[in-house]
Amino acid sequence: MGKVTGFLEYKRQLPPNKPVEQRIQDFNEFVLPVTKINVEKQAARCMDCGVPFCHHGCPLGNNIPDFNDMVYKENWKAAYKILISTNNFPEFTGRICPAPCETSCVLSINKEATAIEMIEKNIIERAFKEGWVRPNLPLLRTNKKIAVIGSGPSGLAAASQLNSAGHQVTVFERADRIGGLLRYGIPDFKLEKSVLDRRIELMKEEGIEFKTGVNVGVDYAAKELIGDFNAILLTGGSTIPRDLKANGREAKGVHFAMDFLTQQNKRLAGDYISEDQAIIATGKQVLVIGGGDTGSDCVGTSIRQGALNVTQIEVLPKPAIGKNPKTPWPEYPAILRTSSSQQEGCQRFWSVQTKQFIADERGQLKAVKLVDVRWVNGGFEEIKDTEREIPCDLAFLSIGFVHPQHEGLLTQLGVQIDERGNVKTRKFHTSKEGVFAAGDMRRGQSLVVHAISEGREAAREIDIYLTGTSVLDSKNHSLINIR
Ligand SMILES: Cc1cc2nc3c(=O)[nH]c(=O)nc-3n(C[C@H](O)[C@H](O)[C@H](O)COP(=O)(O)OP(=O)(O)OC[C@H]3O[C@@H](n4cnc5c(N)ncnc54)[C@H](O)[C@@H]3O)c2cc1C
Repeated sequence: MGKVTGFLEYKRQLPPNKPVEQRIQDFNEFVLPVTKINVEKQAARCMDCGVPFCHHGCPLGNNIPDFNDMVYKENWKAAYKILISTNNFPEFTGRICPAPCETSCVLSINKEATAIEMIEKNIIERAFKEGWVRPNLPLLRTNKKIAVIGSGPSGLAAASQLNSAGHQVTVFERADRIGGLLRYGIPDFKLEKSVLDRRIELMKEEGIEFKTGVNVGVDYAAKELIGDFNAILLTGGSTIPRDLKANGREAKGVHFAMDFLTQQNKRLAGDYISEDQAIIATGKQVLVIGGGDTGSDCVGTSIRQGALNVTQIEVLPKPAIGKNPKTPWPEYPAILRTSSSQQEGCQRFWSVQTKQFIADERGQLKAVKLVDVRWVNGGFEEIKDTEREIPCDLAFLSIGFVHPQHEGLLTQLGVQIDERGNVKTRKFHTSKEGVFAAGDMRRGQSLVVHAISEGREAAREIDIYLTGTSVLDSKNHSLINIR
């Protein structure tokens, strides 16, 4: 522990964001830089608890008190080494993780948590600036070939781990660019794509091969794949969006959130979207259906495109404000949160269901009929006399994803599917010999930090499968002893 009285002397302080009216003018990240000395002060707030609950809270098991200590002592290079010993991509989690480590920080019981995520981001950005982040080349190469299907955070983390163990890794991606939802789901204002490109360049230098535009199961038959590789890892994500069965669903102007978000990310990457295909919120009255991360991203994107107004509805009741006794510390609290996009100007309503999409004579959406609901006996019940119509030209469905796509690759491989429709595994092994699964494809729609963690764990299982043992670190098998 660096400074014994740090948590008494310093208050939690996060870097400011650009003012709303300024940041909505473009799609760039808007968190302003913080001085080195301020990051060191924030790190000094860590109490180095005897039982560091933050380790438990972090799905990666990051050694948080150790890197905080090193930052406080101005040994940033050591902090960087500690950080990357458990997390392949702190530049992603340092920007977009909901930071379960912070909600399980002991300080957060009666004070504000240590600013762990901000410290993490600053460690990795400093490491890049100082040139400490170099390609991690394996000392030896095995003759084992591994195919990773899907280039989201789980596939990338697994590829990075397996390559460092000396295996020859090829990542297949059906999209035209690498990154999964980091590329085409999450908007630039949360994660600029240059951050992703910087990492992919490093991975290429490390010897990982990337093949884009290959839809495995369509362009490359599963049978062939099995013959060509010693092991296969499925990290194809949870890609089938949940639909809304309301009257008028077919109206022009009702879209899945991902269709809208992907287009904007492509536009920013310089791709041309034809006018007849374009989904644009400029000058429109927008309704975002669903109160999660995806919904929030639709709000921020609509506002930046110049929507006339944005309303967001959620069928679940408004969460508790401040603390929720049902989710006590150190659990991740189910409480009301307001995302940066929601702060930018949208109306939010809870316990509201969509009854009908109303179109004009051309089939174009012009209004949505809503009704208030309450949860009774395991189902939603409409509240009498609460039906109303709101004007709306564009509605986005952001109510989650049901499961991965079954047709094509999964059907061809014949892997078992679990009761939720995800790929069934035991220690990341699917029912098919030599085929593994990780990330959203295995656990269902989740978080980037879980995807990275799953990629690391699966890589270790694959290494053991191929060589009988493993040199790879994972949350449950730490190789380093830093203390
Ligand atoms: C809009 C949105 C915003 C989000 N925001 C956040 C956030 O702020 N913070 C957070 O922690 N999490 C967030 N998430 C969740 C997070 O992005 C996912 O949990 C994570 O990306 C899952 O990683 P993955 O590697 O399992 O799959 P994905 O990222 O979904 O990647 C899967 C990849 O596999 C490819 N693929 C699928 N099938 C094939 C095939 N047959 N052949 C070749 N390629 C294939 C797909 O094209 C895709 O690129 C968000 C999700 C969405 C949708």
